[in-house]
Amino acid sequence: MSKSTVAAIATPLGNGGIGVIRLSGDDAITIADKIFKSRSGKLLADLPGYSALFGNSVIGEEIIDQTVATVFRAPKSYTGENVVELSVHGGTLILKKILRALFDNGATPAIQGEFSKRAFMNGKLDLTQAESIMGLISAHSESQLKMASGSLQGRVSQKIENISGALVNLGAHIAVFSDYPDEELPELQPKNFERKMHDIINELENILSTYDAGRILREGITTAIVGKPNVGKSTLMNMLSGTDRSIVTSVAGTTRDVIEETVTVGEITLRLADTAGIHSTDDTVEKLGVDLAKKRIDTSELILAVFDSSSALDSDDLSLIDDIKDKKAVIVVNKSDLGSRIDLTLFKDLPLVNISAKTGEGYDALSDAITKITAVANLNPDAAVLSSERQRACAARALDSVRFALSTMNSGMSIDAVGVCLDDAVAALLELTGKRVTNEVADEVFRHFCVGK
Ligand code: GDP
Repeated sequence: MSKSTVAAIATPLGNGGIGVIRLSGDDAITIADKIFKSRSGKLLADLPGYSALFGNSVIGEEIIDQTVATVFRAPKSYTGENVVELSVHGGTLILKKILRALFDNGATPAIQGEFSKRAFMNGKLDLTQAESIMGLISAHSESQLKMASGSLQGRVSQKIENISGALVNLGAHIAVFSDYPDEELPELQPKNFERKMHDIINELENILSTYDAGRILREGITTAIVGKPNVGKSTLMNMLSGTDRSIVTSVAGTTRDVIEETVTVGEITLRLADTAGIHSTDDTVEKLGVDLAKKRIDTSELILAVFDSSSALDSDDLSLIDDIKDKKAVIVVNKSDLGSRIDLTLFKDLPLVNISAKTGEGYDALSDAITKITAVANLNPDAAVLSSERQRACAARALDSVRFALSTMNSGMSIDAVGVCLDDAVAALLELTGKRVTNEVADEVFRHFCVGK
């Protein structure tokens, strides 16, 4: 990373009470002094860290705006470098003019995530903490906020470091055993190695299991509402979305293509597709819709399979039950207000809720069933939760390596080969936290940040 001093607007562009411009780098204070004139006549260069002056931002003789300039001195700042934050009134033109003046005086434009990348490079944040920042900013539910905040506090790094520490410890014992195979100490016995590997595998499996539920909370889940024509799919979609976007009619086969909608049920965002009814048909246009609906079952992560409680199941219903048997699916028995003529035993053990999409009855039960089947119900947002595909892939690599170490040991191969597998697992975990990571990986993480962060 070059030692240039970078600047960017750190607050959203638009009209607001306050707007902040951030400068970071060796020359941050000197450059800020060129455009900031304090009321007292003091220079920012004379201030200790964590202090502020009131004055004006100026370009030559022209006063742009009143300004509070806050000085942070390296290494005690967000980036670990000298930082100045100029707080002015939150108008786009004001902010842009001051930023331009800073560029004219030697600052260079910060790219996306540059402040956080500098913080990472200077050891102020590890990669899991850096990744949690965007999650924190974009959180739109309490659980997301808790997960991101926990990760920023270092909960994920701590957990990963504990596992990594256990692996290093085990590797050290294995190395001693390799050199002194006749040593009788209990911690140097292969049985003990095996037990420790099982413990580590459990820990890695546990933390990996947090990823999917966490991702569903953050990004939502692709969901297909499927069922025969007229069972009430569009009405269910309308109940969930509270709009009349799908055409609801009692003529079978009206919903001919897939309509997309995002709705929030409890804490979960469903990325919904209302599909044409699944049933055998000769109408070519309708047939396209039916094929699309079947494809939706394959590509959606969650299926809401709708059945009409007021009529007995027929062969189309039974074939749908077969289509979804290996999927994450909730059986939605609709039209409960019309009474029940349906044989519920045919659904076997699949999670099932009775609702009336028309009256809204059963909504809470449906919400609970969705929370349960997506494993979000089991997720503790206060625990360490993996929050990016990058973190998941590293943890999965570590898990594969430890499993391989265990099978290598059990197959009677040289104990040194076991040590090599454990080293691979440690390397994957060091990459997860960013302790040992290539520049390309770090660049990829910070590319997703906004400018000014
Ligand atoms: P789709 O073809 O599966 O999308 O079914 P629709 O949502 O278009 O509904 C078909 C018919 O069933 C419409 O006349 C709806 O008003 C009616 N309907 C849907 N849900 C309910 C319900 O819960 N109770 C009753 N009584 N009628 C419903």
